[in-house]
Amino acid sequence: MITQAAGDLNMPVYVVGGWVRDLLLGRNSKDIDIVVIGSGIKLAHRITSGLTKKHKLSIFKNFGTANLRIGDWEIEFVGARKESYRADSRKPIVEDGSLEEDISRRDFTINAMAISLNQNDFGSLIDHYGGKKDLENKLIRTPLDPLITYSDDPLRMMRAVRFASQLDFKIDCDSFEAIKSNASRIKIVSMERIMDEFNKILLSPSPGKGLKMLRAAGLLSEFFPELDALHGVEVVDGKAHKDNFFHTIQVLDNLSEKTDDLWLRWSALLHDIAKPATKQFEPEAGWTFHGHEYLGAKMIPGIFKKLKLPLNEKMKYVRKMVLLHLRPIVLSQNIVTDSAVRRLLFEAGDDIDDLMTLCEADITSANEHKIKQYLKNFQLVREKLKEIEEKDRLRNWQPPISGEDIMETFDIKPGKQVGIIKTAIREAILEGEIPNEKKAAFDFMVKQGKKLGLTPKKVIN
Ligand code: ATP
Ligand code: MG
Repeated sequence: MITQAAGDLNMPVYVVGGWVRDLLLGRNSKDIDIVVIGSGIKLAHRITSGLTKKHKLSIFKNFGTANLRIGDWEIEFVGARKESYRADSRKPIVEDGSLEEDISRRDFTINAMAISLNQNDFGSLIDHYGGKKDLENKLIRTPLDPLITYSDDPLRMMRAVRFASQLDFKIDCDSFEAIKSNASRIKIVSMERIMDEFNKILLSPSPGKGLKMLRAAGLLSEFFPELDALHGVEVVDGKAHKDNFFHTIQVLDNLSEKTDDLWLRWSALLHDIAKPATKQFEPEAGWTFHGHEYLGAKMIPGIFKKLKLPLNEKMKYVRKMVLLHLRPIVLSQNIVTDSAVRRLLFEAGDDIDDLMTLCEADITSANEHKIKQYLKNFQLVREKLKEIEEKDRLRNWQPPISGEDIMETFDIKPGKQVGIIKTAIREAILEGEIPNEKKAAFDFMVKQGKKLGLTPKKVIN
């Protein structure tokens, strides 16, 4: 269909970039980029004029591109172009060009291959820069001089690490050196773009690999200094603490074996973020990080804001995970009381399973025996959680008596007294003093009211 239309218009046409790479890798991709020697918009119009299937064509005149959606396929048409860059911006000046020029401006050799869709040589691979060989050797390399390639568009440095992490490839030595010397230029890229790539790194099978590269290349300190600051080991009186960057990465990799959830992975990444700020050496106890979970949770909104991550329930979820990440450990070390388990269920709500997954990933001892012991302890905590949950149904729990109930019963206005009684009821249930039932809570409320000099006006059931 494309071949026919392009033939009619006498415009050579090629599929290029990610789709070709993924085809050779045996990965399925529904995003297709088509380069035309001529006008991509014209070609797209020609194709859709003969289409009977349901589709949506969007034209972007300013960019000279057309986007065609058919089912879950997304096909982008663009005329071949060449680019030139200025020092202060990653937005190039674009002019029409040849296929060769178009391909040479692409970021990596593995993304710089094309397949002809023309009648005379349909299906033949155009690979000027050895992309196929680099795919086989699992290598990220730029078609042209890496120093210029990364300097022209510093986002490519993030993309290099992203592809290396996603595909488990190596970055070519010259490329890596070029990234190191251009690292500070990442500043001209918007944080949203950086985070797009960073999130793809986080979602790769072993994100630790990408994060180590980001740090080693000097990129991490540029856009995420808080994470970079976890790196390093201090020694006092012969006592060293563990390197919290490598610990964090191991936790993240452990967790990534269990879940693809981006925000749970973010929680692992940030769980110890306040360790540098809370670090102390105490002659008796050695290195401590008292309260790092509280300070860490406090830091989350600021970090999300700076990194232009969503400031919605995702942020609150990560903040909660960071705040609670030590609680199951405390439970596993002490004799577990019902009330401690109830409290954790009440505070974690539906996120309790994610929290347990995070805690289990947080075990990074080198001692196999210790790991087994910790996991066994966590298994006990999980059983206890299940038992209490079945008994008390405390997930997303609302106390059986509300503030309105209290005001109505004692005929009082909103104020301090309502709060005092409400808290007392909640605490009594969590501590197991009274059962989680309306009748018991009501009687308890009346008693608490009396202590404050209140008498019930009305009985509710
Ligand atoms: P993904 O699987 O993430 O979609 P992709 O390689 O298709 O990977 P896109 O961002 O969709 O990535 O880009 C499509 C193609 O455009 C790339 O394969 C590459 O040839 C080219 N490209 C994208 N971004 C850049 C860039 N910053 N510099 C140079 N070429 C780029
Ligand atoms: Mg793509």
